[in-house]
Amino acid sequence: MSGSGGMTCRELVELVTDYLEGAMAPDDRARFEQHLALCPGCGTYLEQMRRTIALVGRLAEESISPRAWNELLRAFRDWRAGREGSAPES
Ligand SMILES: [Zn+2]
Repeated sequence: MSGSGGMTCRELVELVTDYLEGAMAPDDRARFEQHLALCPGCGTYLEQMRRTIALVGRLAEESISPRAWNELLRAFRDWRAGREGSAPES
């Protein structure tokens, strides 16, 4: 970890849940937001994750099934796999 270098799309994807939970170190958060400002694709992704988590959070109150969780996680992995294949690094 360089601390001052730019974040890659892959790093951002891995950190997005920490970001949305507010569990990120200030340095990482700054790099995360710096990348978001430069990368529309990751901005879209963050928006999707934010909505997904909001939805799941709502469902969880009515007890979400493990099966639904698995489907969600699989969709997330597929998204990541597709993205890493054609990552538009700047
Ligand atoms: Zn990106």
